[in-house]
Amino acid sequence: GSQTSLQSTDSRIEVDNIRKTFNQGEVVACEDISLDIAADEFVVFLGPSGCGKTTTLRCISGLEQPDDGSIRIDGEDVTTDKPKDRDLAFVFQSIALFPHLSVRENIRFGLDMKTDLSKEEKRERVEEVAEMLDIGELLDRKPSALSGGQQQRVSLGRAMVMNPAAFLLDEPFSALDAQLRDQMRTEVKRLQRKLGTAMIFVTHDQEEAMTLGDKIVVMDDGHIQQVGNPHEIYNDPENVFVARFIGSPSINELEGSVTDTSDGLVVSTDLFDVEFAESAAQSANVSRGDRLTLAVRPEHLDLQPETSLFEADVELVEPHGARDAVYLTESGINLAATVNQGVLSGERDRVSVDIDRENVWLFDERGQRII
Ligand code: ATP
Repeated sequence: GSQTSLQSTDSRIEVDNIRKTFNQGEVVACEDISLDIAADEFVVFLGPSGCGKTTTLRCISGLEQPDDGSIRIDGEDVTTDKPKDRDLAFVFQSIALFPHLSVRENIRFGLDMKTDLSKEEKRERVEEVAEMLDIGELLDRKPSALSGGQQQRVSLGRAMVMNPAAFLLDEPFSALDAQLRDQMRTEVKRLQRKLGTAMIFVTHDQEEAMTLGDKIVVMDDGHIQQVGNPHEIYNDPENVFVARFIGSPSINELEGSVTDTSDGLVVSTDLFDVEFAESAAQSANVSRGDRLTLAVRPEHLDLQPETSLFEADVELVEPHGARDAVYLTESGINLAATVNQGVLSGERDRVSVDIDRENVWLFDERGQRII
């Protein structure tokens, strides 16, 4: 069913409140999913295994029918349209090239169905795409004579020749080794910029999401937890799930409670007390005795400061190139800090620690961020 919308919009894909269940409603794979995707946007669906990323993508593609909600592409309602009528192209983790066809025939495959292009135009388009993907030399080979990265490029090429409204990629690089995966990421991002076509990319890898996404859609338990650009997701998480899921080493969390609200807000943990400014205290809307989670990223712990908040044992110093991760423990609480390479030898068994008060977050018992 196609209805043309009169309202003008920059969005290529509009997902409105979709919900999808399996097993007679027993499994809610995704729910309350609403999203706008612009014509030139790189959108990443990020979340742990089983959070509903693939189901959401499959609803957009038409491989799955949502129970509720609608999907529009270029203003047209496509919710009940077949996948082939949606002007979308897929790239999956399993590459699924035809083994008996050459690279050229594999790339041309989808075009062969198109009657509005001449043979010459099809040939040109295949060659242009092969050129862009740097596989022009490989066009006459069979897939079995290609490396994993080259095969993945061919499957990208197969999607690209279709010149779709958007590309849907479901963990396309997870079978590749780390170095090749990095390289393919950069390449896909560069390609997306060049083509100016919307891409939706599914991954459970936060680093992949951060490097690729203009917009990251963080999902958990079938629901969108937050939508934002990589900096917003990292610097301004709305809840403890997002704060935990992004960042390496993971954010430090301490259980605490409100011990004073008379003059500013004081939160006490087993290791230290932190006082927040009065303005913060007011907006947080908490009372004495409330249980909270205090969280601070590793880079906001300051080791060997002039004035310290507490002391801790150094358990391990882990080199990560320019920065080292330092794992600390005190009173049964484990914390991670990062420091410039070589700042801590690892032999020192006790360090003083301060935290950057500007970068301490508080989450309420429901996990919502309040400061
Ligand atoms: P992964 O990264 O492991 O692929 P995901 O985030 O993509 O996970 P989905 O594959 O969308 O998650 O699955 C969401 C939930 O729906 C899971 O609990 C899954 O078991 C369930 N599910 C998905 N497809 C079906 C199906 N065809 N029948 C029954 N349950 C399903």
